[in-house]
Amino acid sequence: METRRRFPPPSCTSPSPASTLRSLPAAPRSSGDRIQASDALPIPIRHTNLLFSLLFVCSIVFLMRRWRDKVRESIPLHAVDLSELVSIISVVASLIYLISFFGIAIVQSIVSSHEDEVDDFLPDSKMTPSPAPSSDLAMPVLAGREDEDIIAAVVAGKTPSYALESAIGDCHRAAEIRREAIRRISGRGLDGLPLEGFDYGSILGQCCEMPVGYVQLPVGIAGPLILDGREHYLPMATTEGCLVASTNRGCKAIAESGGAASVVLRDAMTRAPVVRFLTAARAAELKFFLEEPTNFDNLSVIFNRSSRFARLQDIQCALVGRNLYMRFCCTTGDAMGMNMVSKGVQNVLDYIQNDFPDMDVISLSGNFCSDKKPSAVNWILGRGKSVVCEAVIKEEVVKKVLKTSVSALVEVNTIKNLAGSAIAGALGGFNAHASNIVSAIFIATGQDPAQNVESSHCITMMEAVNDGKDLHISVTMPSIEVGTVGGGTQLASQSACLDLLGVKGACMESPGANARLLATIVAGSVLAGELSLMSALAAGQLVKSHMKYNRSCKDTSKAASN
Ligand code: ADP
Repeated sequence: METRRRFPPPSCTSPSPASTLRSLPAAPRSSGDRIQASDALPIPIRHTNLLFSLLFVCSIVFLMRRWRDKVRESIPLHAVDLSELVSIISVVASLIYLISFFGIAIVQSIVSSHEDEVDDFLPDSKMTPSPAPSSDLAMPVLAGREDEDIIAAVVAGKTPSYALESAIGDCHRAAEIRREAIRRISGRGLDGLPLEGFDYGSILGQCCEMPVGYVQLPVGIAGPLILDGREHYLPMATTEGCLVASTNRGCKAIAESGGAASVVLRDAMTRAPVVRFLTAARAAELKFFLEEPTNFDNLSVIFNRSSRFARLQDIQCALVGRNLYMRFCCTTGDAMGMNMVSKGVQNVLDYIQNDFPDMDVISLSGNFCSDKKPSAVNWILGRGKSVVCEAVIKEEVVKKVLKTSVSALVEVNTIKNLAGSAIAGALGGFNAHASNIVSAIFIATGQDPAQNVESSHCITMMEAVNDGKDLHISVTMPSIEVGTVGGGTQLASQSACLDLLGVKGACMESPGANARLLATIVAGSVLAGELSLMSALAAGQLVKSHMKYNRSCKDTSKAASN
């Protein structure tokens, strides 16, 4: 998720209800005859212009003649009669009109030609669909053509599939045409993949390119999760039977024990560019420069200019020969923050280049960040929100709801989640199935599912407390990467799920509070999931419950690939 500036979709309309290929509507009005404010005038604009021009010329001619006569007759010029007064007013009025009209038109033409130049640089942006390289695809040139013609052009490779949205100016129609072209090219249909019922304009330039439909995922609700004294109903998008039911059981055990509590230990998204120098000594010089507190203060000012919400906290440096990796850590408000931090890093790199002109920027991301890959740096130092969540589950709840015992749970946790993961060489994987819960909530709430990798880092601890009667359970998750603005969070379904959790959009009173709350809910849900699955394992119920929820009686032989 690198920089993705948001621009409104240039020319896409809301989805068309038609489900079959059809004749196309007339092409939109060209820029030459687009609606203007002047259209509201009672007479056509060219007549108004003519009228004022004539008025101006006639008045000037009249005044000139009058003044020439006055000079000849030695009459003072300032002695004006009514006709001269009217002429002067006419000149002034027509002058004001003509200057306003043509002046504004000239300024507009300068500004719009400048905007066109800027737009020329936008195609690479994820915000704008890439225009086709071919010159005949200036937007939206294909709008007036029949679907059949466009499909044929796509199949023949004459019209690039990626350019359909901008060339047609209707996102739904572009998806429909692309889908049909793919069917003809591949010889395979997409019958089970729905096309209707989705706003393709909402994903243009920010969530998905070249759409042909959307995948349906069921969303189940577990809960309420009682966390920090509040109730949360958890939306989970999954196709794994048992998962929602199991998390629900964990929530019940937590609720009947008085709820769970959480703490956000750290809130810092990271991005680590890598730069190279001619020598390791010079790379070390930059490292020491960055570690100097006064330099850090200056760099923070530069970095924070990237956004109202970005606040640089730290720069962690690592040196490999003459390469320097600088891990910038910053708060990002309610955004997950990858764009924000990347922009801030770019600002700082540009600034540092003045003092270190020999610095060669190899990559804005040098993998020491570390995004979407298992890495010790995230596990140890954290990335996004670092959260710990705990609960004390009463002995009777362990027996009644979880159908096991405290001692059995503690034993299984030690041998499986700690020792078992240790011999497996786990990196952040000291848990039973944190990623199950993280992925389901991530997908439901529009998070980046690929960040499930580090967001699922979790160590689950279980101990007997209160004279061995009750169970203390905790999950420690150092790198939960979530946001409530940006990315997929603004799409209708995902936004509804965020709304259910009470964390939709930006938190106005305290920027960042929604994203932090979402991170604690993720951790609380993982706690519930761990509690339930570990209990099923301790009680030897796992296979039994999966056979019940995962194995339907349906005949699956028809699903085989042919
Ligand atoms: P990300 O950095 O997670 O990829 P984006 O940069 O795409 O997210 O989206 C964040 C956008 O939302 C920014 O333009 C930012 O100015 C805006 N924004 C509005 N309110 C907030 C908030 N409370 N916290 C963070 N960003 C916010």
